[in-house]
Amino acid sequence: MKIIPIFLPYVGCKGRCVFCDQLGATGRVAIPTFEEIGRIIEEYSRTSSEYELAFYGGTFTALSVERMREYLEFVRNFRVVKKLRVSTRPDEVTPEKLAVLREYGVETVEVGVQSFDEEVLTLSGRGYGTEVAERACRMVKEWGFTLGVHLMLGLPGSNKKIEILSALRAVECGADLVRLHPTLVLKGAELYKMYTKGEYKPLSLKEAVELCSDLLIVLEGWGVKVVRIGYYIPPDQVESVAAGPFDPSLGDKVRRRVVEKIFERLRPKKVVVPSRYRGWLKDPMGAEVFEGEDFSFDELGYSDALFLLGKEVVECLNS
Ligand code: SF4
Repeated sequence: MKIIPIFLPYVGCKGRCVFCDQLGATGRVAIPTFEEIGRIIEEYSRTSSEYELAFYGGTFTALSVERMREYLEFVRNFRVVKKLRVSTRPDEVTPEKLAVLREYGVETVEVGVQSFDEEVLTLSGRGYGTEVAERACRMVKEWGFTLGVHLMLGLPGSNKKIEILSALRAVECGADLVRLHPTLVLKGAELYKMYTKGEYKPLSLKEAVELCSDLLIVLEGWGVKVVRIGYYIPPDQVESVAAGPFDPSLGDKVRRRVVEKIFERLRPKKVVVPSRYRGWLKDPMGAEVFEGEDFSFDELGYSDALFLLGKEVVECLNS
């Protein structure tokens, strides 16, 4: 089901995280009125009759209970809105707010954990620690919601080992889906000052592809779906990105790299590739290539191959 994203920039945010610049990322800082939200939904209704509506861009559960009710009540009255999801921060996940979400039939709660590392969270100005992040994720699951976890890569103080351990924590906490966001330096963010002073160095595009492909292997190898890789920045906002691995086709690059990694590691004799991804295997290294519904590598299906490689990525942490 397609999503109607409703951005409520900075709603409920009590501070500014060092990497955040909602204006630069979306071109909007004004919170839409109910009338505007209604117009957005009507606009989407022209192309489909079933949508999931998502409140993004701020900290939904940091709103007062009354305000949460107003938003949820308003949008669920639209015929095309069949499902609801919200995004929030770990330190604003409470039983009281989850009860409101459940009452209104919200199915998915996306928690902007960003990292499960104490130092990275501190250096990013998140204002909570790993214990709070884990507790929030577990609470969302215990209340029966689908749990989405947002992880940022390349934050200040982070490294490959930390990123992989964060992915493993997301698995342990019961994440159903994950978004991977390599950090971008946006001109309106505190991180931009750190970058211009030489205190922060973003990932290169190549590093981001390598790292994201390892994380995807670990996450999807353990059955956690990666639903987004890289930030969506509207074309007219691209110049707000001062540095960092911005690439609108980052997701494709990462998934292609995953297939390459499986191929390089397993060296299969026979490969099945869905026709739309046929171009990903430029050099099949002597293997016979067939077209089919799903990837397979000799006897191994795609998920089994991911699991095998995922175990090796994790084992490498100790070597
Ligand atoms: S990253 Fe999220 S919590 Fe932090 S300032 Fe931006 S919208 Fe608010």
